[in-house]
Amino acid sequence: MSKQSQNIRVRFAPSPTGPLHIGGVRTALYNFLYARKNGGSFILRIEDTDQKRFVEGAEKYIRDTLKWCGIEPDEGPGFGGAHGPYKQSDRKDIYRSYIEKLLDSGHAYYAFDTAEELDEMRSQMKSQGIKSPTYNSITRSYMKNSLTLPKDDVNRLIQNNFPYTVRIKMPRNLEIKFEDQIRGWVSVDSNNVDDKVIAKSDGMPTYHLANVVDDYLMSISHVIRGEEWLPSAPLHVYLYECLGWKQSIPQFAHLPLILKPDGNGKLSKRDGDKLGFPVFPLDWHTNQGEKFSGFRERGFLPEPFLNMLAFLGWNPGTDKEVFSLTELVSDFKLSRVGKSGAKFDFKKTIWFNQQHIRKKTDLELFDFLIKQDDNLLNTHSKDYILSVIRLIKDRLNFESDMIKEGECFFSENFKIDSAAVQKKWNKEITPHILLIQKEIVNLSSFNEDDIRTGFTNYIEENKLSFGKVMPMLRIAITGKMAGPSLFETIELIGKEKFESRIIRIVNEIENGKNNS
Ligand code: GLU
Repeated sequence: MSKQSQNIRVRFAPSPTGPLHIGGVRTALYNFLYARKNGGSFILRIEDTDQKRFVEGAEKYIRDTLKWCGIEPDEGPGFGGAHGPYKQSDRKDIYRSYIEKLLDSGHAYYAFDTAEELDEMRSQMKSQGIKSPTYNSITRSYMKNSLTLPKDDVNRLIQNNFPYTVRIKMPRNLEIKFEDQIRGWVSVDSNNVDDKVIAKSDGMPTYHLANVVDDYLMSISHVIRGEEWLPSAPLHVYLYECLGWKQSIPQFAHLPLILKPDGNGKLSKRDGDKLGFPVFPLDWHTNQGEKFSGFRERGFLPEPFLNMLAFLGWNPGTDKEVFSLTELVSDFKLSRVGKSGAKFDFKKTIWFNQQHIRKKTDLELFDFLIKQDDNLLNTHSKDYILSVIRLIKDRLNFESDMIKEGECFFSENFKIDSAAVQKKWNKEITPHILLIQKEIVNLSSFNEDDIRTGFTNYIEENKLSFGKVMPMLRIAITGKMAGPSLFETIELIGKEKFESRIIRIVNEIENGKNNS
């Protein structure tokens, strides 16, 4: 059967060892996109064989993240599916038979070395100048294992419950080859692959064994995962061969690293908050009372968050940058994922959020605003609120910015930025501000265009500078130096407020409250 016609089944296989880093979310996203694009299935598998690193709440965090992002799996713990259980700790018995199979066929062996003996082997080799000593096809011949001990000794040790691990027996001089969808052909000499432990002394399989067995039993067609797993892939390919599953080796695609903003190294979990931005999708509270902030709680919407993540490694090959999830699904191709690390850019992440907010309807933003301030509808009409939203929409990085940006439209108690007054208010021009106010108030129609014309005429007739008068007028009307179109703002708040705000600031300045 050709790969094209085969059922596409991909999996996201996180270990619940802490909160999911954004790199993990990107892996989940690419798997999701690949599955959706190709009419396949997206599977969540919890890889919790390492009980020592298990962290309470991490699995729920993974599920909550996928839910918030809108990339929920078709199969997985709590999602149903015919290939379960989907949590490795619930599959212990399944792995046992494959470990036996590898032992019986001579592809694996028992190793009885104690921690001290292993340490001794490493330090001896180091003293011989070997930088990273491993248990491999050479060193195994002088260690304590079923390849070196007499059969009776091995049986006795096992019967006496002497702790042992099971190791894969890597052959010598074998070329292990596979084609990575992103990196092309990868070829490794088996002499450089160590005899990895496949079953630990507690009987649990290690990641390598469980991962391969599960990918096979769950009929995974494509393994799309982070670059950090690339060195393990030759071992996985070899395990497939040992287990007689050569025909079912999945296609591999190892995603590029996500780098720190300066490109200096991998963006790590520890970078969270330290560099001034989150690296986790949702807030995470540790048992020690520490908190790591999440994109959700910082006001990011799921779609721009995913849009940003999609671009950390992939691009559509066009200038288009703003993508909805549906658009990502239709444009995503593994062939457009690059090899080199992608720098995380927090400013760009904010930009994505801003772009997606612009695509929201006024009513969607209205609903958000009303939820934040349920008194608003008692004091202002829905039409007025919608007009304000239309005016400030392009200025929003986050939905919550509506509160700050909307302040001067919804209340007369907005704060006047005294630093702005200090910088821009020119007392000599104050009389002109009062005259401009009169001019505008006396206009026969109080609309944006006429207000602009009235203002412009006054400035020109009196040979004043726009650059000096405009900021003063803006501070008087909005309290700030920056904001949406000033003339539209004046039309929207209406004649009365326009008049009273100018009087207010002029009085305050006269009385020394807002000293210029
Ligand atoms: N459990 C591994 C992890 O935590 C999964 C690696 C893989 O996808 O094969 O990232």
